[in-house]
Amino acid sequence: MRNVVILGSGPAGLTAAIYAARANLHPLVLEGSQPGGQLMLTTEVENFPGFAEPILGPELMQQMRRQAERVGAEFVAEDAVAVDFRARPFRVQAGNGEVYEARAVIVATGARARMLGLPSEQKYLGRGVSTCATCDGFFFRGKRVVVVGGGDTAMEEALYLANLAESVRVVHRRDQLRASRILQERAFRNSKIEFVWNHVVEEILGEDSRVTGVRLRHTHTEEVRELPTDGVFVAIGHVPNTDLFRGQLELDAAGYVVLKRGMMTSVEGVFAAGDVHDHTYRQAVTAAGYGCQAAIEAERWLTQQG
Ligand code: NAP
Repeated sequence: MRNVVILGSGPAGLTAAIYAARANLHPLVLEGSQPGGQLMLTTEVENFPGFAEPILGPELMQQMRRQAERVGAEFVAEDAVAVDFRARPFRVQAGNGEVYEARAVIVATGARARMLGLPSEQKYLGRGVSTCATCDGFFFRGKRVVVVGGGDTAMEEALYLANLAESVRVVHRRDQLRASRILQERAFRNSKIEFVWNHVVEEILGEDSRVTGVRLRHTHTEEVRELPTDGVFVAIGHVPNTDLFRGQLELDAAGYVVLKRGMMTSVEGVFAAGDVHDHTYRQAVTAAGYGCQAAIEAERWLTQQG
C-alpha cells in the first residue's frame, strides 16, 4: 500500500510529489498518458518565478518532473481510469489494469480549455491561437487580437489584453454577455475593446505558421465575413478533468472539485490541488502552491491517523 498516490503531473501534481517525497511519504504519481498538463501546450513561460530568461513550457515541466524524481517520487505513465474513495485504503486503477491502494490521494488532474472544435484552431494553437492571455498576451503587444466568448473569462482576457494589444475585438455568439455586471461594465468602458455581437468563429485563417484573421458567421443572418487579426484568444470556458470522480467526490455545478477544509475534498484523506478545483487563478505558480499545500496537509493528516 502507498502512503500517497498523486493523480496528475502538471505543476500541482509535481509540486505535491516534491513535497510528499521530501516528507518521506514515497509518493506514486500517475502522470497520465500525456504528462505535464497544460504547460505542455505553451511556448515561452515568462511568469514562473525563478527563471530570469523565458523557459519553454515543456522544458519547465521536464525540470519539475526530474526534481520530483530526484527527491524520490515514483512515476507510472498511465491515466487513472477508475477510483474507489468509498472505503479505505483508497483504490486507484491505472490504464494498464494495475490497482494501487493508498492511505491518501491527491487529485491534481487539472482542467482543459474548452475549444471551438475547428481543425484550424488546432493547427494554429500556440502560433497565434491561445487560451491564456496572462500566458501569451505579451506576444501580442501592439497587435490586433480577437477574444471569443461572453463570460467572465472572456472579459478578463479582453481587459488584460487591452493593456497590451492595439485593439481587442470580443466575438460573442449572442447580443448579451454572460459575464458578471462589474466585468461587463469595465469592458464596455474600455476604449480599446470592441464587441462583435451575434457571431461565431467559423474558421481561423492563417498564412504559413501565423494567424491573419478569422472568418465569422452571423448567427441570425448566416452572413459570412472576414476579420483581420494577429491572434485569437479562445475564452469559452474550461472543463475540469473530473469525470473520473463523479459520484465519489463532491463537484460543483461546473464540475470542479469542491474543497471542504483546506485542500481536503468531501472525502477525508482525498485532497485536491490546482485547476481541478480552482477556476479563478489557473496559473502554473498558483497550481504549484496548491500542490504544496495539499502535500503538507496530506502529510499532517496521515500523521494524525497514526
Ligand atoms: P462561462 O461562464 O461558461 O462562459 C462561457 C462563454 O463562452 C459564454 O458566453 C458562452 O456563450 C460562450 N461559449 C461557450 N461555448 C461556446 C462555443 N462553442 N462557441 C462560442 N461561444 C461559446 O465560462 P467562463 O467565462 O470561463 O467562466 C467559468 C466560471 O468561472 C463562471 O462561473 C465564472 O463566473 C467564473 N469566473 C469568474 C471570474 C471572476 O469572478 N473574476 C473569472 C473567470 C471565471 P453563451 O453566453 O451564449 O452561453
